[in-house]
Amino acid sequence: MTPVEVAACVFCRVGERRPGTTTITLTRDEAAVVIRDVPAEVCDNCGHAYFDGTVVEALEQIHEAAIDAGAKYAVRDFVTKVA
Ligand SMILES: [Zn+2]
Repeated sequence: MTPVEVAACVFCRVGERRPGTTTITLTRDEAAVVIRDVPAEVCDNCGHAYFDGTVVEALEQIHEAAIDAGAKYAVRDFVTKVA
């Protein structure tokens, strides 16, 4: 296996991943939840965002909470809650 350069984007192989924030939309069934200000590494060429595991878990919790609240469409700011 060839070592993958940490900073390189695996999608376009041209851009570099830079720390920043992004907005993503998670969907399940008819429910769509937009989450803003999500910490991510964002490719400076194609814009693909990379999230780390703790961020992904937090996103799932925010998504679940919005669906549990009966939302069909919701916009949330990314807020980490330490359980
Ligand atoms: Zn890229």
